[in-house]
Amino acid sequence: MKTKRLTKFRLLILAAFVIFITYQAYMHQVKGGGPDGAPSIHALCPYGGLESLYTLFASGELIDKIYLGTMALFIITVITAIVFRRGFCGWICPLGGLQEFFARLGRKLMRRQLTMPRAIDKYLRYLKYAVLILTAVYSWRTASIWVGPYDPWAAYGHLGEGLPAVWKEFPVGLSILLITFIGSFFYDRFFCKYLCPMGGLLGIISKISPFKIKRDESACISCNLCTKVCPVNIDVAKVQAVTSAECINCQECTSVCPEKGALTNIFSVKNKTAIKPMVVGISILVVYFGGIAIAKAAGLYPLLPEAITEETVITDVDTLKGYMSLSDISTVMNIPLEEVYSRMQIPAEVPGDIPVKEISKWIPDFDFHEAREALSH
Ligand code: SF4
Ligand code: SF4
Repeated sequence: MKTKRLTKFRLLILAAFVIFITYQAYMHQVKGGGPDGAPSIHALCPYGGLESLYTLFASGELIDKIYLGTMALFIITVITAIVFRRGFCGWICPLGGLQEFFARLGRKLMRRQLTMPRAIDKYLRYLKYAVLILTAVYSWRTASIWVGPYDPWAAYGHLGEGLPAVWKEFPVGLSILLITFIGSFFYDRFFCKYLCPMGGLLGIISKISPFKIKRDESACISCNLCTKVCPVNIDVAKVQAVTSAECINCQECTSVCPEKGALTNIFSVKNKTAIKPMVVGISILVVYFGGIAIAKAAGLYPLLPEAITEETVITDVDTLKGYMSLSDISTVMNIPLEEVYSRMQIPAEVPGDIPVKEISKWIPDFDFHEAREALSH
C-alpha cells in the first residue's frame, strides 16, 4: 500500500512534467522562440547549461538557443544532484518519465521485462560517459548545440511538426528516440542507462553527495523486493549502501522494503536520522522548484530572447534569428528596409513584419542562413 502511494505520486509528478514539456514544445512550434514566443526544448533542458559553459567563460556569451534561465536550470540541477544524487532523473526528467511509462506498458503487456546480460550491461553503461565527453567537447569547440541533429529530445520537441518533417530534420535524433521508447518497453530506462549525457554527469556529481540509502544486514530478510523494483537494476539486496552512480533516487526500493530499518535514507554527515521515502521525493521537488523560484525572483530566469527595441544593435549576421522580421533586421542592423529586401533578394509582396522563418511560404527554397550572409557585405 505504502509503495503504491509513493509510486503513484512519483509517476504523477513525472506525467505532469511530460505534459508540461510537451505543451511547451508544441507552443514553441506555434508561437516561435521570439521574445513573445514560447521557450524551446533546448532552452528548457538543463544540459544546455553545460553545452554553453565554455563559451560563457571564454566570451561571456551564451550559445544559440540557450538563455540565462537555462544556465540557472543547469546550476539548480547540479545543486539537486549534490544534495539528492540523481533525484532529477527519478522525479523530474520528462524523458526519464516517458521511458518508465513505456516500461510499465511493456510489463503490463508482456508480464515481464527482459534482462541484459551483466557482462554486456556493465560495459554499455560507460557509453553515456563517452556521449557526455563527446557532446560537451564538440559543443564547446563549435560554440553551438552540436548534438542537436542527433538529439532524441530535440526530435521529441519537434513532433508537433509531423513525423516527415522531424525525420527530414532529425533523422538520427528520431531514430534514437524510437530506439529509446522501444528499448524501454522491453528494458526500463534504456536511454538513461546507456546514452544520456546528463545522467552521466549527474551520476559523477552524485558521488560527492552525502545522501545515501543504507541497508542494515541484521534487519534485512533477503526478500529481494528492493532489487526487483529497481528501474536501473541495482542489486540493492546485496549492497551495504547504494552508492552507485546509476541510482536515480526514485525511492522505489526503500518504499517497497517490508522490514523496518532494513533500508534507510540518511545524510552521512553529523545527523544520521532516517528520512522517509516520500520526504526525500518532496524534498527533491522543493530544492528544484525552490531554486527556480529564487532564480525567477532574482531576474535570472529568462528562457526567451529580449524584446527588440530601437536601441538593439546586431553587427554579426550569424546572430540574426528566424523569429525576427525584415523590419526587425532593418532596425537592429541599421540598414534601410528596402536595402534589406534587395540584399536578401526578397520580393516586395513578402510582408516586412512576419518572422523570416515564414518567408518559405512565399519562396519555397528560401534559405535564411544564406540570405542573411548577404547582409554582411
Ligand atoms: S538519465 Fe537522462 S534521460 Fe534519464 S532521467 Fe536522467 S537526465 Fe533524464
Ligand atoms: S537503488 Fe533504489 S532509489 Fe536507487 S534507483 Fe534503485 S530503486 Fe531507485
